[in-house]
Amino acid sequence: PATQPPMQDGAILDLMPAHAHYLGTVLRLGAGDEVALFNARDGEWLARIEAIRRDRGQVRLHRQVRPPTIGPEEAATGPVLLFAPLKRDATDLVIRMGTELGVGRFLPVLTERTNTHRVNGARLAAIAVEAAEQCERLDVPEVEGPLPLVDRLAAWPQGRRLFVAAERPAQRDGAADVDAARDEGPRDGDGLLVGPEGGFSAAEVALLRSRPFVTMISLGPRILRADTAVACGLSLMGAGFRR
Ligand code: SAM
Repeated sequence: PATQPPMQDGAILDLMPAHAHYLGTVLRLGAGDEVALFNARDGEWLARIEAIRRDRGQVRLHRQVRPPTIGPEEAATGPVLLFAPLKRDATDLVIRMGTELGVGRFLPVLTERTNTHRVNGARLAAIAVEAAEQCERLDVPEVEGPLPLVDRLAAWPQGRRLFVAAERPAQRDGAADVDAARDEGPRDGDGLLVGPEGGFSAAEVALLRSRPFVTMISLGPRILRADTAVACGLSLMGAGFRR
């Protein structure tokens, strides 16, 4: 966490309780065993466990193996993912896959047909940490609290595009499609919005299309599950919408 002192050779750091539990109880590591620690500010470091017991532990850093990816003043990079919260497992998958595919920020959006209005922020943040560790990403994307669609649109930052995945040709009729989106080329900090299991209502489609920063895009001829649509949309954005 940002409250930890900077990582440097010889520094002793306290482990977070969940990490101490995982390393000590689940993996059964003990004093002298080596672990890797990372964050965006300090990069990745190797450390030896000094002491570990239940949910407490200390490690001593001894070697940096990767430099930091972002400077302290730089904003997080990658696309912003706006998604309607889904059933628990599907939402977990959205966070996991989104983190692996480089999402910089997750913004849950409440739409007319959103079934799940609450998200467990702590649980999703923990999944983002796990996924970042798994894919060896040094920074961990932020997961914000849910907000209604209209508020998300009102707060949309100037100069950023929002690509909205819309599965029905009529929802995109006359609007730019994925080919036009490719010409525009997604840039770092642009957004992808994927709707809920029940899709967007006609009023929401009209609202979205009235915003100049919105481009409606297709993810292909088949109706994808919302979590699949997230993976597909982020992959296409990552590839500059090449298909
Ligand atoms: N129940 C809706 C229906 O039958 O029309 C389908 C909604 S789909 C399961 C959930 C979300 O995934 C949609 O709101 C959209 O954002 C996205 N999606 C799914 N397939 C898509 C496609 N082929 N192109 C663009 N977006 C798609």
